[in-house]
Amino acid sequence: MSRNKIIAGNWKMNVKPSETAALVKGVAEATAAYSNVEIVCCTPAIDVPAAVAAAAGTPVGIGSENCHWEDHGAFTGEISTGMLLDAGAKYVIVGHSERRQYFGETDETVNKRARAAIAAGLTTIVCIGETLEERDAGKLNEVIERQVNVGLKDISAADCARLVIAYEPVWAIGTGRTATPDQAQEVHALIRATLAKLVGVETAETVRIQYGGSMKPGNAAELLAKKDIDGGLIGGAALKAADFAGIIAAASAAS
Ligand code: PEP
Repeated sequence: MSRNKIIAGNWKMNVKPSETAALVKGVAEATAAYSNVEIVCCTPAIDVPAAVAAAAGTPVGIGSENCHWEDHGAFTGEISTGMLLDAGAKYVIVGHSERRQYFGETDETVNKRARAAIAAGLTTIVCIGETLEERDAGKLNEVIERQVNVGLKDISAADCARLVIAYEPVWAIGTGRTATPDQAQEVHALIRATLAKLVGVETAETVRIQYGGSMKPGNAAELLAKKDIDGGLIGGAALKAADFAGIIAAASAAS
């Protein structure tokens, strides 16, 4: 089964609206040759309109870093899927470990956000991954299976066309410490097998599973060469067009 590689940047809380166009245009220019890779910049919600304008006419897709599950209402500080679509976003990240760690996100709220985003037609990147304590305590499989089973509960085989999973070991995010390609592949295979129990083997084979955690131009090729690693979710290295493009070049070569 060949799955089109997807490389998505997660800008986090790092780029101002006035700085957005330059970064998006820099990414588009530096990656114009890599048409076999799906390229996405997920930005703070306030940057989305500027990012969409800058990406117009390029293959770069724009997304946000979170969304709420309700359409509208008294949810101060939240952003709905309808608002994102209205601003031109086509992607959204849900369940990032920083949302889980600092903002009380649980597998249940991840599931609500993911179902709403997929139903709205956004390509939805659902993040999962274990902490170092969980890995050291021998709970890796249990944690990953729970995050897939609860986070993706009631997602149908048809919904999987708009689902991307990001495996991000929490101990590798922003730390410079990367999972080895074999460690990552082992968990990606577990995620796919767990997903297969929910939606069937054939559909699970079509779902892209990204690796995230200190991916950079220097280590992307060996990670992306693995059978079940279908792309990357990139934090720090997505903030410089040349670094991001280096990862996309590796994804293109691995395709
Ligand atoms: C992330 O935040 O999703 C991430 C993978 O960050 P970094 O690439 O900086 O580790």
